[in-house]
Amino acid sequence: MQTKIIRIDSEHIDIEKMQEAAALICEGELVAFPTETVYGLGADALRPEASVKIYEAKGRPSDNPLIVHISKIEDLKRIAKEVPEQAKKLADAFWPGPLTMVVWKNECVPYTTTGGMETVAVRMPNHPVALSLISESGCLIAAPSANTSGKPSPTEASHVALDMDGRIPMILDGGAVGIGIESTIVDLTEEKPMILRPGYITKQMLEEVLGEEVVIDPGILATDTTDPSQAGQKPKAPGMRYKHYAPKADLVLVEGDTNKVVAEINRLVSVARAEGKSVGVIATDETKAMYQADVVFSIGARDDEDAIAQHLYKILRDFDEQEVDAIYSESFATPRIGQAIMNRLLKAAGYQVLYV
Ligand code: AMP
Ligand code: MG
Repeated sequence: MQTKIIRIDSEHIDIEKMQEAAALICEGELVAFPTETVYGLGADALRPEASVKIYEAKGRPSDNPLIVHISKIEDLKRIAKEVPEQAKKLADAFWPGPLTMVVWKNECVPYTTTGGMETVAVRMPNHPVALSLISESGCLIAAPSANTSGKPSPTEASHVALDMDGRIPMILDGGAVGIGIESTIVDLTEEKPMILRPGYITKQMLEEVLGEEVVIDPGILATDTTDPSQAGQKPKAPGMRYKHYAPKADLVLVEGDTNKVVAEINRLVSVARAEGKSVGVIATDETKAMYQADVVFSIGARDDEDAIAQHLYKILRDFDEQEVDAIYSESFATPRIGQAIMNRLLKAAGYQVLYV
């Protein structure tokens, strides 16, 4: 299959091009498109055979449900058994935006889209190209991240092309995304609203709007720590259970006081190089010049959380291209979205962390 890559200017959307993409969605085909979080791989969410194609193209396990993307609030009523009061409040505050809500599904949502679950995950993305594709097609669009399963999520159309070329008919190229990590997922079918995946919208932001306590899925806390006493809890979102975002090289995080971290990483680098390995380092603007490694990438300024989130996946992909054997990274447990950043980075590192 030939993959057509169509450049769309987000500020001046070319409706004819969007109609061509929308027609593919209506035919049950796949179209990759930008959202504000990462690129999505879209198909008609209400057609079972269309969402099956998504799993095939990504090599995604079929029990890992898809997020349904909508362009207007009425669409939520189309697929939810009932719309909880909390969903209305959260939609008012954060949609369109990087928040996914899990609600009970009704019969029009096929089990292929929900991975066999009785609930459905819904989000209204804040990106003009995504919103235009949804509204032009008149469909609700099921879309996971547009990467091959297990690879870092794509933050540029070129990343999608690397993974999906020849597998899908069209990629809409809307440039680099703004946020760079996937949406926060909040489950509204539990007794208390529960965060299944941390993201740009934090627990505090949700609590402020809801006026009640929001809990974090104990299953993700269990996997986000190296503490063996927490092991054994399974994350509720099926996708959070899989190995994810792994770069080809072995990645180890080093955490602690900056000066000690730099010294330890340089020591580890020289040990690895003495063994004949090619070594990469993930640094910040402040520390980049302090490392003696084969490849050093800065993820951004240490206090610029947005930049760190935006560059994370691109850097992991760039290291794959550089073909290094080992990567050492500083740790980025920043105040606001640090939990979301570290959740991804720890997974990429297979939870290998050294404390100095
Ligand atoms: P992706 O779109 O690739 O970022 O993945 C979507 C994430 O949402 C995965 O981790 C899924 O397991 C999760 N998800 C989707 N639908 C549901 C649902 N109904 N209940 C819980 N998690 C879900
Ligand atoms: Mg994904």
